[in-house]
Amino acid sequence: MLTPYDVLRMKKHLGMTSGEFLQKHTVPFEIEGQGLPGIKMRTTDDEPVCLLMDEEKGCTVYEHRPAACRYYPLGLMNIKAFKATEEEQYYFIVKEEHCQGHNEDNQLTVDEYREQQGVKEYDDYNWPWYQLVLKKKSSGPTIGKPSKMSLDFFFMCSYDVDRFRKFIVSPNFRTVYDLKDDYYTTLLEDDFELVTFGFKLLAQILFGDKTVPLVKDAYEKRYEERKDIIAAKFKLADELAKQQDPNEKYIDD
Ligand code: SF4
Repeated sequence: MLTPYDVLRMKKHLGMTSGEFLQKHTVPFEIEGQGLPGIKMRTTDDEPVCLLMDEEKGCTVYEHRPAACRYYPLGLMNIKAFKATEEEQYYFIVKEEHCQGHNEDNQLTVDEYREQQGVKEYDDYNWPWYQLVLKKKSSGPTIGKPSKMSLDFFFMCSYDVDRFRKFIVSPNFRTVYDLKDDYYTTLLEDDFELVTFGFKLLAQILFGDKTVPLVKDAYEKRYEERKDIIAAKFKLADELAKQQDPNEKYIDD
C-alpha cells in the first residue's frame, strides 16, 4: 500500500505529475474495512515484479522508495482500540523465503531499524493521514458508507496533488476558505505543504474538525447561490433512494 508521502517523493524524483505517476505506477484497491480508496504499486503482469525494479541496478528509486519497502520485512499496524483515544503502532516480522536479510547475523531494535531505513520522516509526514484512515475505520457503519464524491475527494487530497492544486485554484475555493495570502502562495508552490493542507481539509470535511478558517457566512452565501441546484440534487437522491437497497445508508450525501 502506498501513502501520500510515498507518491510525493517518487513523482518528484521521476519528474512526473501525480496523474502520470498514478496512471503508470499504481493500481487502486479498497483499504480493508474502511471503504476508502487506496493505491498499491503496479507490477508486471506475469511474475509479478515492481515496475521500478531494474535487473542490473536493482531499485531505480531507492533513495525515494516507499515506506512499505523501507519497513520490509517489518510489518506495521496502526490500531485504534474500541473507545481508546490514542492510536497505537505494532510491528511484526514477515518471514518469506526470498528475503535473505533473515540470514544476516545482525540484531537491531525496531527503532534502530526504522532510523537505518529512513522511515521516520515518512511516518511523521503521514501521521495525520493515518489518523484519518483509522478514524474512518473506528467510526465503522454508524457513519455510513461515504458518498462517491467524498471518496473521490479523499483520493484527490491523498494521492493526486496536481489535481488538488487545480481545485484550490478554482474561483470558488477562496470564497469559502479564508487563507492568508502567503500561506495560499506556499500551497500553490509546494506539493508537500499542499498535501498537508489536504489532510486538514479532509479532517474538516469528513469529520467536522475546524482547523481551516472559513470566510464569514460563506456557506450561507453559497447556499443562496446554489439552492435551486441543491434542491434538484436532493430530489434526484430521493428518487434514487427509492430504487436502492434499503440496508445501505449514505448519510453524508
Ligand atoms: S524497493 Fe523494490 S518494490 Fe520498492 S519501489 Fe524499489 S523496486 Fe519497487
